[in-house]
Amino acid sequence: MVDTAIFLGAGASKTEGAPLQGELFKEYFSSPDFLRKNNKMNRELTAFFLEMFRLNVKDRTLTNESFPTFEEVLGLTDLAILRKEAFRHFDIDNRDHSNSGRLRIMGQYLTFLVATVLDKRLPGRLGHHRKLVRTLAGADELRNVVFVSTNYDILIDNALTDEPGRGFDLDYGIEFRNFDPSFVGDNHWRRPNLNNCVQLYKPHGSLNWLFCPSCGELEITPKEKGVVTRLISDFTKKPCSRCAGAFSPLIVPPTFYKDLNNVFLSTIWNRTDIAVQKVKHIVFCGYSFPDADIHIKYLLKRAQTNRDGDLEFTVINHFPGKDADQIKQEKYRYERFLGTKVNYTTKSFQDFCNDPFDVIPHSGAV
Ligand SMILES: [Zn+2]
Repeated sequence: MVDTAIFLGAGASKTEGAPLQGELFKEYFSSPDFLRKNNKMNRELTAFFLEMFRLNVKDRTLTNESFPTFEEVLGLTDLAILRKEAFRHFDIDNRDHSNSGRLRIMGQYLTFLVATVLDKRLPGRLGHHRKLVRTLAGADELRNVVFVSTNYDILIDNALTDEPGRGFDLDYGIEFRNFDPSFVGDNHWRRPNLNNCVQLYKPHGSLNWLFCPSCGELEITPKEKGVVTRLISDFTKKPCSRCAGAFSPLIVPPTFYKDLNNVFLSTIWNRTDIAVQKVKHIVFCGYSFPDADIHIKYLLKRAQTNRDGDLEFTVINHFPGKDADQIKQEKYRYERFLGTKVNYTTKSFQDFCNDPFDVIPHSGAV
């Protein structure tokens, strides 16, 4: 019986070394990937920041605070595309014009930028995630939780699939073309046995998923961030094996204007919606309840109101150096939206991973 949803936000990945959103631009523009490669992506990103924000990204004196937020930048490209409008020199689609499609491709480059930074920062790091999975598995409680992750990285994915001798499948809630026995490629992936699986829903997409817009199919690159290894560094060599077309990443940027029209993402949203309506307890890990996440709030409010009785909420997002004002603001954001019964703890994600049963009761123990 799945009683608990473990909700993983950016702070959970941060404990393994992932940068927060406010650090992404500075990190990328001072990285060897940017400084040493004069490719089209880097030239376009440079031009975009200069034109739109009057920022010379090669200026080494820039700090995290010099940059607009990631949400602001992606909000601009997303909203323009949604409204079928453009910025000067950055058009959406315009027949026979040299800037045609430039803004749309910029949206992809910004996604690739995040993917590259995460790939560099998180190789093989999954200590806390692994500890959590192992502790839950050891107590035979893994099947009683559903994981919901708003992160694109594959920390929790790898922690789940790496589990030695694991007697369960991983269910992302969607169909991958790799399930087909006639799938051409190295990455065969077993269709999860729904009677014996752990659910992991990633409503904002994932770095190990590749979407072929022509075939309408999704391919998983297990263990590997296919968006990085195949789309960015090896773009021409690894097209779709069926139609030879180009894959797109299936990642929804963290903006107010999320495009959830993709059939796979809407399926995941639906599965997440149903799953959180059925659990009794949601444990937020490393999630700061940001204002931009109205879609997540919508989902949570549905889970809270579409039931008899109360849905329990626990917040685990403490970290060294978190000041009293940050704590107060965050607690307030949770409570004003979910009510004052939220169990706002002083535990860190590490504390939770070491001893999840202090928060989630053993199903046999209650
Ligand atoms: Zn295809």
